[in-house]
Amino acid sequence: QAKARGGGCWHFYSQQMFDAFQDRLALEQDLKLALSLQQFDLHLQPKIRLADRKLVGLEALLRWQSPSRGLVPPDEFISVLEYAQLMIPVGYWVIEQGFSLMAGLRQAGLGDLQLAINLSPAQLTDPGLPVVLEQLLQKYQLNAADFEFELTESMLAKNLTETINSMQRLKAQGFALAIDDFGTGYSSLSYLRQLPVDTIKIDKSFVFGMLDNQADYDIITSTIAMVRKLGLQVVAEGVETQAQAKSLLQHQCDQGQGYLFARPIPAANLVQTLTENINQLQQWR
Ligand code: C2E
Ligand code: MG
Ligand code: MG
Ligand code: MG
Repeated sequence: QAKARGGGCWHFYSQQMFDAFQDRLALEQDLKLALSLQQFDLHLQPKIRLADRKLVGLEALLRWQSPSRGLVPPDEFISVLEYAQLMIPVGYWVIEQGFSLMAGLRQAGLGDLQLAINLSPAQLTDPGLPVVLEQLLQKYQLNAADFEFELTESMLAKNLTETINSMQRLKAQGFALAIDDFGTGYSSLSYLRQLPVDTIKIDKSFVFGMLDNQADYDIITSTIAMVRKLGLQVVAEGVETQAQAKSLLQHQCDQGQGYLFARPIPAANLVQTLTENINQLQQWR
């Protein structure tokens, strides 16, 4: 049966593949120009300490404002940046923006917040990273402890020794480290003991279902218990409802991040939004 319409099928699929290939090439070309055309922007999402509802930090989330495509979310372009070897330069732009932003927050009297910055695997193991960070600390007169770098579990699968060495270098400089999207990768819990990390962020996919799905609930509660037993901080991402936040607090999850508290805020509005809404932000229940 397949053979009867074989020719047509083959042509159809190859045309589709060709179109996808061309779309992908065009995306890569646009991204190559995006940095010099200043089309990237940071949005900052608040992180809330659940026990006292205090705003304790922000996560920097990259956005691409493309004239032809509109505001493109990172899931649609980070992997392309990585593949096209553009993630290191774009990542340095994110880092410098983050430092400059923290200097601005300090001036506005919001200097006790910690900024979390996501790092791709190539950025973490880039030999230039520790030097650049040291220079930026000097330039903006900030402390390494003002920053936390978020790394995903999947990086550990590739080159564990090199990854751990790079992590240890950042820790030695005084930066905090977090494992992002915890639960979605393949790393076993026993890895956690070997890793120089401060924080575990439970992936939002488990939080979304935690009150409707027994398996997700069990994963959340046992992860919180285990992470706390190891003496690390635990953060839940993707908190969207009061009920989720209450349950997370009951199980002693340290921090929450999610639309319940705040959506990511454009960098240009950050100081104003935080100063005007800080009381509301800290009264979510
Ligand atoms: P992530 O680091 O796990 O960031 C959390 C993501 O969850 C963000 O998506 C955030 O907008 C979204 N989120 C937060 N709260 C909620 C909620 O309550 N409900 C829902 N539905 N979503 C929520 P975003 O900004 O689209 O970023 C996606 C991913 O892109 C990030 O996931 C991170 O892995 C990557 N990324 C973003 N910025 C950077 C960057 O500067 N460098 C690198 N290497 N990766 C980045
Ligand atoms: Mg993250
Ligand atoms: Mg995450
Ligand atoms: Mg994620």
